[in-house]
Order: sequence, then structure tokens, then C-alpha cells
Amino acid sequence: MARDIIVQKYGGTSVADVSRIQNVARRVVKARRGGKDVVVVVSALGDTTDNLIELALTITNDPAERELDMLISTGEQVSCALLAMAIHELGEDAISFTGAQVGIITDNAFTRARIIDINARRIEEELRKKRIVIVAGFQGVNVNQDITTLGRGGSNLTAVALAKVLKARACEMNTDVEGVFTADPRIVKDARKIDKISYEEMFELASLGAQVLQPRSIEFAMKFAVPIHVRSSFSNRQGTIISREVRAMEDIVVSGVAMNKDEAKVTICDVPDKPGIAAKIFREIARQGINVDMIVQNVSRTGATDVSFTVLAGDLGKTIKVAKGISSKIGAGEITFDKDIAKVSIVGIGMKSHSGVAANMFEALADNGINIEMISTSEIKISAVVDKKRGQDAVRAIHAKFGLGKKRKS
Ligand code: ADP
Ligand code: ASP
Ligand code: MG
Repeated sequence: MARDIIVQKYGGTSVADVSRIQNVARRVVKARRGGKDVVVVVSALGDTTDNLIELALTITNDPAERELDMLISTGEQVSCALLAMAIHELGEDAISFTGAQVGIITDNAFTRARIIDINARRIEEELRKKRIVIVAGFQGVNVNQDITTLGRGGSNLTAVALAKVLKARACEMNTDVEGVFTADPRIVKDARKIDKISYEEMFELASLGAQVLQPRSIEFAMKFAVPIHVRSSFSNRQGTIISREVRAMEDIVVSGVAMNKDEAKVTICDVPDKPGIAAKIFREIARQGINVDMIVQNVSRTGATDVSFTVLAGDLGKTIKVAKGISSKIGAGEITFDKDIAKVSIVGIGMKSHSGVAANMFEALADNGINIEMISTSEIKISAVVDKKRGQDAVRAIHAKFGLGKKRKS
């Protein structure tokens, strides 16, 4: 007989203290008593992961990544054991596991490992014994049995991957908001919950700064068509369903607005304007393992031009060093940088078939006196870099311009 398996992930805020862990226990038990086989994935309590990273940084600025994973993976081990105990108190059978114990095998990329295999035998065995299975999110082991972690927000990936191998009927992401909103509800008061969104749009929103889900988990879900339901741990309301694109989605031009404040802009001034120079610059930067996001090259009038690009703020120091080296090699000028930037983006499948979207976005910024420093576009997204201080204003202005607030009819 086909079993009805559900994977439920609970994020850090949902298990931040004992009473919240007890709340999660009640929800899990309710699903179990409703006849489902329940597999639960938990994040670490509250800000545990941040605190553990900070602790490591009090000892060294450059912790060995293997040891960092050894440290930060402990947070999830605490929450899964406590949840098992809370479920026992409610009279149900539950058993907790680390990633290694349930055979989550990853590559060797500590702090951002990829899952290469999951052996679900142990989980299936426990489900057959009618137990609730709780798995520590965010972690796995490499083939040498070293503990690895899956990148920040990685419990989402654990949940999606387990849902796939267990052929679960649903993968629920339980969090501290009612679903995915048209913008971060902490910034935009009238942001609206989205009922249904495509993997592509969700992937873009998450990559562009909507922290509610880890981008890699959506990529994985899209590849294997795992439907995701993002919902609140604190209510029983329907949240947001993330699934394949359906035709009706194209009618919505802009689905949401996102902001990322974690990038910095670097400019190499007076770069000689001749073939091969850009290739040299970005080859050297890539060689140092630095990811470049947006790139702008100004028009040259004098045979030299300024090249600006953005990198993760954490890579800024390294980038400046590399840029200085390149500049002297190619005969360019000084290097300037700006940490106080915010990248504000809109995402929507409907952009493919509607014109004037960029103009509306830029008008919203202009009407509020917000200067645009850089622009980039793709088929379903448009991003603009603005002054960090105006980032939240920019999100609100754009959200209003596209009528995304609560009063919208569709
Ligand atoms: P969890 O601890 O459950 O993993 P996170 O804190 O990682 O939860 O993500 C949830 C938070 O993401 C919300 O509290 C919300 O402020 C923020 N967020 C940012 N953008 C969005 C958005 N578009 N929709 C919903 N939440 C968003
Ligand atoms: N605890 C980890 C983090 O804070 C993983 C997760 O919450 O998904 O990134
Ligand atoms: Mg999270």
C-alpha cells in the first residue's frame, strides 16, 4: 500500500525556545495522528548558527572550514534531540538522527557542500515501525565521514532532498511568516501573501535576497519537481505553493520585490579601451574564487573607461587586492569601492511578454529621488543598485508602483 509521507521543515525561529519546540511537537503529532508518516527536518534554535560562527571568529579570522562545519552542525543536533523528547512527552514515538546517521552523503566542499546521495533505508525502517523521524537539517558527511554543512539556510535543502528520495506527498517549509510575500513583510507593511509561485520566480527572488528559502533548495526542487508549501509554524492557514509554471502565472507581470545588502561595488578607473582587457580582469578575479555579480563598463571617449562590478561584501578586501594587481599590469588607474549599496530587484514571469516594466521600476525610483548606480536585467528579473540608505524606500516605492499591496484585486 502506498504510504502517505510528509516532510515538514521547521526553521530557527520556529524552534527558538522550549515553548516553540513544544508547539512544533504538537503540530508534528497532529500530522502523525492524522494518518501520515512524518519526517521532520529542524534548524538550530534561533540564532545558534550565527552565534557559533561568531564564537569561532573570536579565536581566528580564518577558521579551517572542516572545523567550522564540525562546530556549526552541532546546533541542529541539539534541536532534533529536544524535539524528539517533546514528542515523547505527548505520547508518540519519535527518533532523532544526524545527517550522517541517515546517510546524507555530500561532496568535500565544507560550508557549502552538495548532496551526492541519500540512503533512505534507515528512515524507511523507522517509519515502518510507526515512528516519527526527526533529522538534523543543514548537514551531511563526505565519503571520509567528515561532517559537512550545506550552506546557510541549508535545512531547506535537507528537507527537499529527503522529500525527493522518500517520494513524499508534500514538503512543508514551516517558518515565521504565512508564506512567500510580494516583498519582505518586515520592510513593506502591506506586502501580500502569494498563493502560488513558479520555481523559477522563487529561485530568482531567493537569490536576489528574499531570505525565506535557500536558493539551492529551490533549484533542487525544480530539478526533481518536488512541490513545496511555505507556511507558518504558528497558524493553520494555507501558505504559498511553489510548483511548475502554469499559464495563469504569466498574467502577473511582477510577482515580487527583493533586496540584497550584502554586495559591494568596485571600480577600476581608466581602463585602456581595447580588446581582451575585460577578459584579463575577470579571468584573474575568477582565478581567486571571487564571484562577480553585476558589471558595468562606461562608454569610452578618451580611449580609457571605468569598469565597475559588484562582489559579495565578504570578498571585498580580497577583490581590491586583486584589482590593484590587475590595474598595474594593464596600465589602468586607481581602484575605488563602495560598501554602502543595496541591490533592489523585481521578478516576474510575465515580464517576458510585457513591455515598459523597466521604465516603471526606474520611474518609481526617480519619483522618490533615488539614484540608480547600476542596472542589470534578464528574462524574468530587473535589478538596480542604489544607495544602501535608500534601499528600503526603493523596495516600498517599487512595490507600490506595481500595485503589489494588499488591495490588489487579482
Ligand atoms: P526560518 O528560520 O524559518 O528558516 P528565515 O528567517 O530564514 O526563516 O526566513 C523567514 C524570513 O524571511 C521572514 O521572517 C521574512 O522577514 C523574510 N523574508 C524576506 N523576504 C521575504 C518574502 N518575500 N516573503 C516572505 N518572507 C520574506
Ligand atoms: N541553521 C542553519 C542556518 O542558520 C541552517 C538553516 O537554518 O537552514 O543557516
Ligand atoms: Mg532560513
